[in-house]
Amino acid sequence: NAQEKNVVEKLFSGLLLSNRACLAQSITLTESTHPRKCLQARLLLRKALQHCKKCQEENKSYNFRIGLSGPPGAGKSTFLETLGKYLTSQGEKIAVLAVDPSSTTSGGSLMGDKTRMQELSRDMNAFIRPSPSSGHLGGVTRSTNEAIIMCETAGYRTVFVETVGVGQSEYEVADMVDMFVVLIPPAGGDELQGLKRGIMEHSHLVVVNKADGDLVQAALRMQYEYTSSLKFMRPISPNWKPKVMKVSSLTSEGIPELWAVMQEFHQTMVKTGELFETRRKQQRVWMWNYITQHIMQVFREDPRVKSHIQEMEKNVEEGLMTAGQAAEILLRRFVPDTVLS
Ligand code: GDP
Repeated sequence: NAQEKNVVEKLFSGLLLSNRACLAQSITLTESTHPRKCLQARLLLRKALQHCKKCQEENKSYNFRIGLSGPPGAGKSTFLETLGKYLTSQGEKIAVLAVDPSSTTSGGSLMGDKTRMQELSRDMNAFIRPSPSSGHLGGVTRSTNEAIIMCETAGYRTVFVETVGVGQSEYEVADMVDMFVVLIPPAGGDELQGLKRGIMEHSHLVVVNKADGDLVQAALRMQYEYTSSLKFMRPISPNWKPKVMKVSSLTSEGIPELWAVMQEFHQTMVKTGELFETRRKQQRVWMWNYITQHIMQVFREDPRVKSHIQEMEKNVEEGLMTAGQAAEILLRRFVPDTVLS
């Protein structure tokens, strides 16, 4: 109706003007579960998607989505502040979206409550958005995927998606972005050692931070160690050889070189078409992720199913039934004629 349209029109024109308050409101709208707001969000997202598509086709200019992950204390917020200011000083508009998986599982937040990236957040060409705290990880990833579209509509052509830690849920971020970057400290100890394989398997770029002062030697060793391990990894993309670079987010040393490599990546992906191929695939996979998550939730919470889950789990654990039989019994309580194929 007219009123919904009005709200959406206003937000959309605000987005086109790069208005940060409108951008924040638009993202909040997509996070809402209120039916009316959901309708508004749907209308707004449709306009936003159309706009982004048109921009891409007309200007042949392509935005850049970068995922940044790394253990707590590696220096992610310092790094983003330094790189962010370097970019805005060159006239780029950048957005930083935080994803904090810990806030959904533990209620606490690994990113902490301290105000992060203070200087960058005052920069008119930067937009910083903390992690949506409500809901489960599926909700957070959906919000973030839609927040990316909103940022791009508002002209923030470089979007960083920052997540804390290195582990399963962090790698979900890799499936939202064009380039996945992991930031590590120069001396990681045993904990980091155990994560090394995972880091290398997912990253287009490993950045050793804190390469300054007393830590320069350690950073060099770390860079060497990761570079040699990379030789034994299966390539993550046919068009890109993963790299290991070192920077200091305190002194900005290595930051311009790092950005040059990131741009080289982006241009290569655009030129080869891999960027679009990957994005198409990502969107298809997310759609099925959301469907799977939702159906699983509905299934588990269905009263006819719920009351029998424990019993069936016990039956299969104790070998009284096969897993297939138990699954079929539960599924039939949900959809009567199910036959497991
Ligand atoms: P995050 O938890 O990954 O976001 O890490 P922070 O950005 O909060 O940084 C953790 C600590 O490392 C802070 O005390 C920073 O001052 C310090 N730090 C970050 N980057 C650098 C760097 O390039 N060099 C040095 N020496 N310290 C840094």
